[in-house]
Amino acid sequence: MTDVLIVGSGPTGLTLACELALSGAGVRVVEGRTAPHRESRGKGLWPSSLEVLEGVGVAEPLTAIGSGEVVLRKYFDGAHVNDTPMPGSGLLIGQWQIEEALRDRLAGLGVQVEYGSRLAGITQDAAGVRAELADGTVIGARYLAGCDGGHSTTRKVLGIPFEGSGEEEPAMVTGDVRAPGLSREFWHQWFTSEGGGMLLCPMPGTDTFQLQASPEQDEHGGLLPPSLESFQRLFDRHARMPGIRLADATWLSAWRVNVRMATRIREGRVFLAGDAAHVHPIAGGLGMNTGIQDAAALGRTLTAALAGQAGGDVLDAYEAERLPVAAEVLADTARRYERVMAAVRTPGVGTEAGLD
Ligand SMILES: Cc1cc2nc3c(=O)[nH]c(=O)nc-3n(C[C@H](O)[C@H](O)[C@H](O)COP(=O)(O)OP(=O)(O)OC[C@H]3O[C@@H](n4cnc5c(N)ncnc54)[C@H](O)[C@@H]3O)c2cc1C
Repeated sequence: MTDVLIVGSGPTGLTLACELALSGAGVRVVEGRTAPHRESRGKGLWPSSLEVLEGVGVAEPLTAIGSGEVVLRKYFDGAHVNDTPMPGSGLLIGQWQIEEALRDRLAGLGVQVEYGSRLAGITQDAAGVRAELADGTVIGARYLAGCDGGHSTTRKVLGIPFEGSGEEEPAMVTGDVRAPGLSREFWHQWFTSEGGGMLLCPMPGTDTFQLQASPEQDEHGGLLPPSLESFQRLFDRHARMPGIRLADATWLSAWRVNVRMATRIREGRVFLAGDAAHVHPIAGGLGMNTGIQDAAALGRTLTAALAGQAGGDVLDAYEAERLPVAAEVLADTARRYERVMAAVRTPGVGTEAGLD
């Protein structure tokens, strides 16, 4: 029987795996994907998260790639308005690079992510947890950590409500693209008087930009799905730089506003962490960062439990610490999101309106 089975190899699951492996616990990580992704997704590491990652020995490779000097270049109706340096705003780096560094560290500690292994069911008793995978394999563990993202199977099979609200229509299309000829010195942010906008952020250690934009509408007002062609039309409308052709979209996605949290994050020997426990607007860049902090807290709780200090109090510590934080992050990011959406109607204001 393994000590802790971690479901999901995003930043939350991998940070937790490193924490536990370093404390000497037996860890397995199962991942539904068949291979790692290369999507920029969460691209900002706050200093407190970098501290956690330093604790597990991955800060060095990340600071070698990431950038601590981001300058926002704001345009309104196609005209350059101003540039805002953002010193001390953490480390700009793609989520896949963070995951890669954590995976390498974990491999150095003797743990390999088990790809193509999808959790399907959980049963538990006083002695441990029995996890059933989609292929019928059964894994026994003393504890299980569901770090399996916003659509968490762990949360669903435990029947834990995910309370809050969500929008049907995407608020944003996003992806990774190349934009040959566009300066990589700036995080470009275009907004227009008619509403909507586009952001292109140069991702360190790559030749790509992370694109975020208001979705394109068809002639009936319906939203078009993300595609390179649609990204180009949006770019032409917002940036008005006819010489620049976007290319090589390696990631295409649409993002919906969801403000939800699990009503509890512990059920016996099973825990929820990261997006599995809470999802919220990306303004302020708190999603991945909150997951990394969850992982640090759950690592402390499980290390104490595995050291023999079991019993309700030890296991309750995680939920007592992190559930109030999740509630505050939900309220805080919803406020930040509203603030950014209102502020960018003023020329010269960009995503910095979502930061304190
Ligand atoms: C455009 C964009 C920008 C963002 N910017 C930021 C930012 O600047 N800062 C920030 O902090 N956050 C940001 N986020 C949010 C961030 O990406 C998420 O909060 C983060 O990925 C959550 O990490 P996680 O490990 O909890 O979950 P995930 O990254 O979703 O990982 C969950 C993993 O579990 C696996 N899985 C799912 N179901 C199963 C199953 N049944 N069995 C096994 N494995 C399973 C999945 O394949 C996945 O690999 C951004 C997101 C987007 C889309």
